[in-house]
Amino acid sequence: MATSDTSVVVVGGGVAGLSAALYTGRAGLQTTVVSTGDSILRRNAHLENYPGFPAGINPRLLLDLLEEQVADAGVTFADGRIQRVTSEGDGFELLSADGDSYDADYVIAASWADATYLEGLDVEFVDRGSKTFVGVDDFGSTTVEGLYAAGRLAEQHHQTVVAAGHGAQVGIAVVEDSDVDFYHDWTVPEGYFTGRGREVPPGCEEIDEAEREDREAASLERMREAFAEPHPEAPTMHPSVAEDE
Ligand SMILES: Cc1cc2nc3c(=O)[nH]c(=O)nc-3n(C[C@H](O)[C@H](O)[C@H](O)COP(=O)(O)OP(=O)(O)OC[C@H]3O[C@@H](n4cnc5c(N)ncnc54)[C@H](O)[C@@H]3O)c2cc1C
Repeated sequence: MATSDTSVVVVGGGVAGLSAALYTGRAGLQTTVVSTGDSILRRNAHLENYPGFPAGINPRLLLDLLEEQVADAGVTFADGRIQRVTSEGDGFELLSADGDSYDADYVIAASWADATYLEGLDVEFVDRGSKTFVGVDDFGSTTVEGLYAAGRLAEQHHQTVVAAGHGAQVGIAVVEDSDVDFYHDWTVPEGYFTGRGREVPPGCEEIDEAEREDREAASLERMREAFAEPHPEAPTMHPSVAEDE
């Protein structure tokens, strides 16, 4: 994949943030995920409606695997709670509660229910009862150029696959808005494009049969290992129940 100096900071390492980072990372944008690390999905007991898992999947395993996939895409991770985002020239500066700061050309806010760190910017907030969402267009752009929101924070339906799909949509929107040359993030058999006299488009990869078999073997091995034993972590309880215990 291509590499670029363009930087992206994703706030929130849950379903939407990790899915967005997967696409920006794979497209070669310098992506950092800053997160407090407590995806709401960790509260689920057994995830039964995520496509592709007929008997369901442990949601903590799904998050672990997604994190691994994102790290493999060259994305870096930082622990921290972002408290403030300010516009700096053409980009942004993000400050964490621990005093760490991050510069970014693009910011993707994917922090489930926390939009407080965006209050200094000219963002459209949408209040619904006790919840505050961030107003976005169909591709996750907010009213501030270069700032996007993904997942539940952007008022998407409260389902894992929706958050993942929206994160992907927003990640690709950032790639398309950046300086990276991009067509699709596709891996295709050798000859799929070149066999028709076309160049392999940017973002795509053609692989021969030996390479396809190697990748499938690696995937089978990794999945066997991942699914060999029950996940060691129990679901996180709702804070109000946990306090009563
Ligand atoms: C009990 C329960 C059961 C559920 N069961 C299902 C189910 O069966 N099927 C289904 O499809 N969905 C289920 N869901 C819904 C699903 O978990 C969510 O829709 C999905 O996780 C939303 O993804 P998200 O990325 O928007 O938020 P999250 O996954 O919560 O990610 C938000 C991330 O932002 C981080 N963060 C927050 N604020 C900051 C900040 N200021 N700075 C840095 N990081 C920050 C958090 O640490 C977290 O990592 C369930 C939810 C709950 C609560």
